[in-house]
Amino acid sequence: MKVPLALGGGAVVGVLLAVASVTGDSDPASGADEGTPGPHHAFFFTQPGSSLPVTWSSCRPVTYVVNPAHAPAGWVDLVASAVDEVAEATGLDFAYLGTTSDRAFNRSVRSPTDFEPVLIGWAMPQEISDLEGTVAGVAGPDSITVDGHTTYVTGKVILDAESYARLEADGDAGGARAILMHELGHVMGLTHVDDAGELMHEDNIGRETFGPGDLQGLAVLGAGRCVQF
Ligand SMILES: [Zn+2]
Repeated sequence: MKVPLALGGGAVVGVLLAVASVTGDSDPASGADEGTPGPHHAFFFTQPGSSLPVTWSSCRPVTYVVNPAHAPAGWVDLVASAVDEVAEATGLDFAYLGTTSDRAFNRSVRSPTDFEPVLIGWAMPQEISDLEGTVAGVAGPDSITVDGHTTYVTGKVILDAESYARLEADGDAGGARAILMHELGHVMGLTHVDDAGELMHEDNIGRETFGPGDLQGLAVLGAGRCVQF
């Protein structure tokens, strides 16, 4: 039996403040609510003075590291599998740079030429209060703005160690993967939609793959301007 788990948004991060002034609610072309025609997706942030979403650079690999502390035993396959799904949906290349002991989940971009890879890790609510209650993970992107154009360059995924221990005990590999895919969706730049047919729905209600709106949004987020740093 699945315990409904809330999939936290980008609440964790200092990182979001960097572009908070240009926060966009949703993609006006598709809408994010169940009552409007789908497929549904919504973007975290839009470009300054525009309805176009902030994206990743389409010509630069997304680098990431994993802090395996508190991770379930099968974390290597779990991460690789979830990242593969996001890479396929976005068309972006992902480069795994190995493990880290870094737990600076609240760090932000230091400068356009000095930012860290995406950090994926597990934590207890005592360390990350956003994981209290039924929240299974929190995540968000971090961006830089050069010449008026904002580009995501890194991000964090913090997964709830207790939820993952429970999923592992239940043998629910699909659920564990779906949560990480959802959180990586946030790192890519998607926010929640009300449509339960999408993985970016706020609650885990058993869906284990990206829905049509998720895929549409991720394709847009992977096809942004080529920005070299
Ligand atoms: Zn979420």
